[in-house]
Amino acid sequence: MTDIKTDILVVGAGASGIGAALSAAEKGASVVLLEKGDKFGGAGMFGAQGLFAAGSELQKENNIDYSPKDAYQEMMNYTHYRSNTRLTRAIINKSADTISWLSKNGLETELVNNTQEVHQNHPRVYHQYIDKFNGFQKLIDKFISNGGRLFTKTVIKKFNYTDGNIVNVVIDKDGHESTIYCQKIIFSDGGFVGNSEMVDKYLQISSKNLFSMGERKATGDGIRILAELGADTSGMGVFENHAASVVSNTDPKWHNDTIFTLTNLPFLWLNRNGERFVNEDICYDFALWGNITYTNGGYYYFILDQNTIDYLKSNQLDWTNSFERTFTTLAHTPVTHVVGPFPNIESDIQESIDKGATVVGKDVSELSKYLGCNPDTVNRNLNEYNKIISDNNDSDFGKSTEFLKFPVSKGPFYAIKAQSTTLGTIGGVSVNDNLQALDKNGRVIKNVYATGNNASGMYDTSYPTLEGISCAFAWNSGRLAGESAKATLNK
Ligand SMILES: Cc1cc2nc3c(=O)[nH]c(=O)nc-3n(C[C@H](O)[C@H](O)[C@H](O)COP(=O)(O)OP(=O)(O)OC[C@H]3O[C@@H](n4cnc5c(N)ncnc54)[C@H](O)[C@@H]3O)c2cc1C
Repeated sequence: MTDIKTDILVVGAGASGIGAALSAAEKGASVVLLEKGDKFGGAGMFGAQGLFAAGSELQKENNIDYSPKDAYQEMMNYTHYRSNTRLTRAIINKSADTISWLSKNGLETELVNNTQEVHQNHPRVYHQYIDKFNGFQKLIDKFISNGGRLFTKTVIKKFNYTDGNIVNVVIDKDGHESTIYCQKIIFSDGGFVGNSEMVDKYLQISSKNLFSMGERKATGDGIRILAELGADTSGMGVFENHAASVVSNTDPKWHNDTIFTLTNLPFLWLNRNGERFVNEDICYDFALWGNITYTNGGYYYFILDQNTIDYLKSNQLDWTNSFERTFTTLAHTPVTHVVGPFPNIESDIQESIDKGATVVGKDVSELSKYLGCNPDTVNRNLNEYNKIISDNNDSDFGKSTEFLKFPVSKGPFYAIKAQSTTLGTIGGVSVNDNLQALDKNGRVIKNVYATGNNASGMYDTSYPTLEGISCAFAWNSGRLAGESAKATLNK
């Protein structure tokens, strides 16, 4: 490749990068979009199913009374005003238009019921992608028809920046070096969940206890360059916890339907010290379930006794699998609100023991030994839980009575380990409401932007429980950055 001249360079072709690149290109800027992998889309396409908006045409057509003002207030209540109010306002105010903009450019969405059990009384905000792979292709086609250039298998090797100006950017495309000359750069490379060293440095839990469903190619490259320019990284610890998962450390691809369903139900949970720590029906809110797992060191055990296993083997249980609504919403099928029976539960549990995800003890003392917990603590917590069940009243944590069904009293006892799970990191560098990167004094680092998972400020500690908000942040932050970069070009 020869040297390349462009107005704007966008790094990372996921949700926020495509949002930035297409927005700038359609307004007349020349734009180059770099993607590390051989495919565009990132977690925004391969993972996400939809995005949040307030006041969209689809919401109006469906008589959903939920304005940007309502959304702003909800976000502020969630973050206790320990967030970037101007950024939040900008993202929310753009969110309705972004639904129309995506549709105009080829990515249609439909307004569906909120996908989590506890959000059914919340106004509907989740705009689910229709035919997303074709939709993303159309966005890229639009970008290219506006003169945009997409380079896949390409990364930045050197970023030369002096006195507020980008001197040049040396890139490596599939083993070949070139130099790009540009005025503005937008880092949209998806955060750092794919970098275990950065995870260990910035998060409160060990990467060993984290199950990431996020973009593996997101290894913090943009954030590291931004940090070298003096960007404020004080928000790096903000994190997108999302539920908890049972995984095998020896077989990362292992999945067992029965174990997956049992994980998504409010049985008794014990933390790493063998103590009960929460109303387990928090599993019906993925963000809060994820947060409490994270707060307890990144894992807990759900505990079943032999009576429960025997019951589940041949009986249907009138509890909702907390993920069922998500899957049925996608498939447009009704939610059953029941699980089981699980005729193969014994072999399924055995499989999870073989995969290192479950331990079994013939009695409490043996179970405690395998968990590395004090047997007196485990015994006391089981007794307290069993009393809660017999009283039909969770005076400790207030779990709903419909879930006070299974005492844990007859050995053998099974402890299945559920680990912190994430869709990606959401802590990055500080930005203003144009998504320009800021230094530690809140001053703009000229000509440099950060979007999506590279940018912090919208959340205080963790992912708020507003459905589709992280993808909405990605698309809207990308669009705002692309528009701002184009509007401030020197011609
Ligand atoms: C399984 C899953 C389900 C999800 N579901 C939802 C949902 O339904 N709703 C929702 O709101 N959010 C959801 N999310 C989160 C959402 O996908 C992300 O918040 C969003 O995609 C972040 O956008 P981004 O542009 O920052 O990163 P991404 O969309 O991940 O894009 C980053 C891109 O940058 C590329 N890249 C990385 N490093 C470099 C580099 N050095 N140079 C060039 N390119 C690079 C990556 O390959 C990738 O293509 C989900 C995430 C996952 C993993």
